[in-house]
Amino acid sequence: MNFLSPTADFARLTIVVFMDFTHSARSRKYQEQLEAFMTEHVYPAERAIKSRDPLPGEPIEASPELIELKKIARSQGLWNLFLPDDEYGAGLTNVEYAPLAEIMGHVIELAPEATNCSAPDTGNMEVIHDFGTPEQKERWLVPLLEGEIRSNFGMTEPGVASSDPRNLQCSITRDGDDYIVSGMKWWSTGAMTKDSKIAIVMGVTDPDAPPKARYSMILVPMDAEGVEVVRGVPVFGYIHRGGHAQVRYNDVRVPASNMIANAGDGYMIAQARLGPGRIHHCMRAIGQAERALAMMIDRAKTRTAFGKRIADQGVIQDWIAQSRWRIDQARLLVLHTAWLIDTEGNRAARRDISAIKVVAPNTALWVIDKAIQVHGGMGVCDDTPLASMWANMRTLRLADGPDEVHTMVVARREIGRD
Ligand SMILES: Cc1cc2nc3c(=O)[nH]c(=O)nc-3n(C[C@H](O)[C@H](O)[C@H](O)COP(=O)(O)OP(=O)(O)OC[C@H]3O[C@@H](n4cnc5c(N)ncnc54)[C@H](O)[C@@H]3O)c2cc1C
Repeated sequence: MNFLSPTADFARLTIVVFMDFTHSARSRKYQEQLEAFMTEHVYPAERAIKSRDPLPGEPIEASPELIELKKIARSQGLWNLFLPDDEYGAGLTNVEYAPLAEIMGHVIELAPEATNCSAPDTGNMEVIHDFGTPEQKERWLVPLLEGEIRSNFGMTEPGVASSDPRNLQCSITRDGDDYIVSGMKWWSTGAMTKDSKIAIVMGVTDPDAPPKARYSMILVPMDAEGVEVVRGVPVFGYIHRGGHAQVRYNDVRVPASNMIANAGDGYMIAQARLGPGRIHHCMRAIGQAERALAMMIDRAKTRTAFGKRIADQGVIQDWIAQSRWRIDQARLLVLHTAWLIDTEGNRAARRDISAIKVVAPNTALWVIDKAIQVHGGMGVCDDTPLASMWANMRTLRLADGPDEVHTMVVARREIGRD
């Protein structure tokens, strides 16, 4: 696909540039491999695992199926595809990675982790890759890239409105050669898994500094004294993505060398981390929407009511048609944003990242909701993945920033253009 596109600042500059979404040969190669991997291994594993979800609060072991999937994915070179760096990752651009993340998004609970491309590990790996010291990389990045351990990210706090990071209260206080981390976090995705060995915690190092210099990010091993996983936090009863945890940091002492970049750089790192992480969520959301549409069509073609196939009812055709163009619109916006990140960087794409972060999950939710409706009662129980998909996508309207905050970002950029 080739398009003529205005640049990000078209209104002012009226420069027209060539925007190319053609799938490269290496992206096509990975797409074919990934599709075969999904068909042969991931869908069968999904069916096997479904009935064995742990109870909320129990520490989670990786299932034997997931461990096996990881081995197969790795042996086939379907590993760390998200990382643009070709020393550690596959060296793909965001435009090249988009269709791959979309394919993984069809089975969002398994395929991303099987290929070592799942949040929050990807964002955490990028942080350590981009900002870590050689020692931090050796100690934490290498085992994460190898898939030997997992990680979590502790920013959100139960006590304050965390969509505004200026409210964060967790403290990171210098004490000789160490820092002391004290505070309560929740929604630390993945922290319920036994494999989650390291947290990147964001907290206040200098309460008197201007807001953007007040925060830092520090590496806290999950087995450090004082780290207390208080409980698992289920989502609509599901334990998704390795379980979300509430974690109390009881005066946890870590060496000063665990600080990521410099004290005061936390806000800057958070902005850098969330760009690629958000677009990956959106790419996977498109995959969820495509899967829901395919299921909606299958069901509508095979079920008869009032003397005809459900697919022959006008209202159902309207949902199918709308799903098609809503998904295609959202995909184009995601690709456009991927292209902007590739060509102009995260910063230039900030408005567009916020826009897709609202559009993609809402598009997926709209389609999944219609697919549920077409399945009747079956759509809301766990006989199909639709209920879990809806729950998963619904959380994306909050995780990595609520819709309203992203809407504010887009609006402010637009208003500020004049
Ligand atoms: C499934 C899931 C996974 C998550 N994973 C992680 C993770 O791994 N690590 C982590 O640190 N956090 C994680 N989060 C937390 C997530 O980032 C926060 O929930 C989110 O940033 C919102 O913060 P809050 O919950 O404190 O809501 P609040 O800040 O209290 O906001 C509540 C509501 O206020 C409204 N609001 C806020 N600001 C505005 C505004 N400017 N204009 C209009 N309305 C506004 C919005 O409707 C918003 O939803 C996860 C959340 C979920 C649900």
